[in-house]
This record gives sequence, C-alpha cells and structure tokens, in this order.
Amino acid sequence: MAMFGWIVLWLLVAAVALLVIYAGLPNLWVRVLRQRAVYRLPSEQEVALTFDDGPDPRYTPRLLDALADAQIPATFFVIAEKAARNRDLMTRMRSEGHEVQIHGYRHWMVPFLTPRQTKDQVDGASRLLMARLGLKTTWYRPTWGLLNLVTLLSPACRAHRLVTWSVMVGDWRVTPEDVLLERILRKLRPGGIIVLHDSDETWGAEAGAPESVIRLIPRLAEAVAERGWRFRTLSDLARSGNQPDGRASSHIPEPPRA
Ligand SMILES: [Zn+2]
Repeated sequence: MAMFGWIVLWLLVAAVALLVIYAGLPNLWVRVLRQRAVYRLPSEQEVALTFDDGPDPRYTPRLLDALADAQIPATFFVIAEKAARNRDLMTRMRSEGHEVQIHGYRHWMVPFLTPRQTKDQVDGASRLLMARLGLKTTWYRPTWGLLNLVTLLSPACRAHRLVTWSVMVGDWRVTPEDVLLERILRKLRPGGIIVLHDSDETWGAEAGAPESVIRLIPRLAEAVAERGWRFRTLSDLARSGNQPDGRASSHIPEPPRA
C-alpha cells in the first residue's frame, strides 16, 4: 500500500513537471521575459494597428469602412475557419490594402493543446488560408497570446514569425471609445503594435464590445496624426525599420515594390 502511494505521488509530480515544461515555461519565456516574439518594432514615426478574432460579418464590414475613411492600413489576425466562411470580407480586406495574418485555426487555448493541434493552429491555418483564399501568411499571434513548447520548437510553427503586442486596452469589454483612446495613447510609442478586436464571439468577450472599437477609429487616426506618426501594416513596419534610412541597423535590403 505504501509502495502504491509513492508511485501515485511520483506520477503526480512527473505530470506537474511535464505541464510546467510544456505549457508554463514557454509562456514565461515569451510573455514575461519577452523572448522570441516581436512585441514592438524599431521605428521613429510609425505604428501598427492590428485586429484579432475576426472576420465577423456583424462588425468587420463597418470596421473596414472606418479604416478606409481614416486611411489606415491595418493587419488582421484572423481565425482561419472564420476566414474560410467569410471569403468576401477577406477579399475586401486585401483589396483595401490591409494585411492578413494568423491568429489560429480556431480560438483555442494553446497551452493545453496536443502537439498535433498546436501545429494545426499555425500550419493548418496557413494551409487553409492558402488553399481557400490564396493567402500567404508570415506572422502568427497565438490566441490569448498563449503558447506551448511545440509552438516554440516545431519547424511547422517556426515558419511563421511570432508576434504579440505593445498596446492592449481591454476592448473586449464594452468600453466607451474615449476611454479606449486614452488607454492607447498612454501606452503607444513609435514602433508600437496596438491590438484590438473585431469580434465578440471569443470566450470572455462582452457582446457588442467591437461597436466602440469601430467608433474609436477616426479619433485614433486623428490622435496619431497629431503626434506626427503614421500607421503601417505590421510587415511594412518590420521592413521600414530595416531600411538604410531607418535607425535600426540591418543589411536586409528593401524588396522591390510594385
Ligand atoms: Zn483572440
């Protein structure tokens, strides 16, 4: 009996240790110690506006209207399954100068996924977007910003560059847009990456929260322009920081632009 008790105890200890290595330490490494993921980029005057969790037919069309009026190029981190169901919205995003990247195949809690499911969040999503929409993606922002050891180590996941954000303001709760604006401006610096949400379907989000996000856009555009900054897509922001006239030192040449 005592022997049996020890075995159970050791199995328990081993399980906890595995969980810490698989799901705990990778998040400590990326989110607390800020290793491996891009959370802001070198820039003097540019910032990136990004949206997670969409596309959503109830909010994304009006958000696209607002972005077009404000002349803001944005980056959409989409859920691949939703993107495949909303092809018109995806076509519109691209034709209006926005960038599309991966948030996941579904809005899953990555730390608790199996290695296979973890790869599907990036590689499966990437394949679906390519097959259905002809979309090539290069960046991955994990759902809830959480990952596991497979996200960091598997070549299938590493093929996409990992990104989080520098400005997050709780817009998934219904919040007046002037409060959102104030929170953003308190944190935003050149090279900053703002994350907002164009869907309220995610667990923890409040119904109707993206309405304030849509109303926020013109005021955010104005405030950023007043500071002498401008919006770029995430990839453009990453590239411009590498230009010879940028402050960041690098020998990566700017690819030719059409
Ligand atoms: Zn999300």
